[in-house]
Amino acid sequence: MTSLILIGPPGAGKGTQAKLIAAKFGIPHISTGEIFRANVKQGTELGQEAQRYMSRGEYVPDSVTNAMVRDRLAQPDTDPGFLLDGYPRTLPQVDELDAILADQGKRLDAVVEITADAAEVTARLLDRAAKEGRADDTEEVITRRLQVYAAETEPIVAVYSARGLVRKVDGLGSIEDVNARIVAVLGG
Ligand code: ADP
Repeated sequence: MTSLILIGPPGAGKGTQAKLIAAKFGIPHISTGEIFRANVKQGTELGQEAQRYMSRGEYVPDSVTNAMVRDRLAQPDTDPGFLLDGYPRTLPQVDELDAILADQGKRLDAVVEITADAAEVTARLLDRAAKEGRADDTEEVITRRLQVYAAETEPIVAVYSARGLVRKVDGLGSIEDVNARIVAVLGG
């Protein structure tokens, strides 16, 4: 059983690495950002609610995000393990995830933290904006997303560090190099 969290600033390459790691371990890749974007595209009520926050670089309220993750982790494909990408992102989400896992008889094996400095991630996100046109990849919104990450999400790394779960990985370099580092820290 492999149950992982992937954490890191916007633009650190979480999504790309999450797909590779999930495929390697044969576990579902659960990206809250992707679930929100799919809902926006389909015009669901959840999507309309999420869009109001995402377009400004703010986090979607915990109540909305927590309920969505609880449902997703109740699906049987997560029984052999899972990779959470983009969740938890706030201290209350850490508490909620603890409760969800306790209720479902699951546990966490590791938290992989991908590091990258602000100048590098801003450049990557602007490049992605030019290619993919993601709505929240404008310079103004990117700056806000980085501020929110530092204020809300960096503190949760300390919580998981205290539990001895954090494996830090340098996010600079090619996709293959970063992937090899992650596999190495996971003992793969
Ligand atoms: P990135 O990490 O590159 O900013 P994501 O695709 O992970 O992109 O998330 C995009 C947006 O979705 C976030 O900026 C936020 O508005 C929303 N979001 C994703 N996950 C969460 C979460 N756990 N809690 C609150 N909002 C979230």
